Amino acid sequence: MNITKADNDSIQRAAEIIKRGGLVAFPTETVYGLGADGLNPIAVAKIFEAKKRPAFNPLILHISDRSWLKKYSSIQNNKVDKLIDKFWPGPLTLVLPKTEIVPDIVTSGNPTVAIRMPDHTVALKLIEASGTPIAAPSANRFGHLSPTEASHVSKYLGDKVDMILDGGKSSVGVESTIIQFHQNEFYLLRPGGL
Ligand code: AMP
Ligand code: MG
Repeated sequence: MNITKADNDSIQRAAEIIKRGGLVAFPTETVYGLGADGLNPIAVAKIFEAKKRPAFNPLILHISDRSWLKKYSSIQNNKVDKLIDKFWPGPLTLVLPKTEIVPDIVTSGNPTVAIRMPDHTVALKLIEASGTPIAAPSANRFGHLSPTEASHVSKYLGDKVDMILDGGKSSVGVESTIIQFHQNEFYLLRPGGL
């Protein structure tokens, strides 16, 4: 059982695992995520392997600070800014044009990247301490139900992750809403917790 109660000390250790290219399951307000350094293609590959997730299914980058957005997306648009002002941190994922430094494995080769700022103290502290955007899908095997508790993660992926941070039950309990901004219009790609 590699479940560890999230506190400042364990979050710091989890961040070290992320920096070294390992996998950490962590709580967000939507569901538990299976996280790796989103700028490290080898670390991200471990997510796909652990979940048995097809490589054509892109991941969401999780950030802890709005100012990071410009590092990963070239978008500069007032409508997008307004949406972010209103709904970040929260269960809103934006699909936006990506910058060079985002690895192809994160976006499945797409020129766009999905980005979100989760509304969960543990997630935000972990991302902050890692100093890198955390790529994370839900911490379940592909095609299975998304976990909303650390024990769910442990049951199905316990032997695949380096650490499971326990931050209690996810308050929203369903995936984020995904909206793409393309040619000055918004498109709903997936309804979700917003
Ligand atoms: P999840 O399975 O909750 O990790 O959410 C990832 C989902 O976000 C994918 O299955 C896609 O539906 C969507 N997604 C991520 N990146 C992109 C992208 N670049 N373009 C379109 N959809 C994306
Ligand atoms: Mg999922």
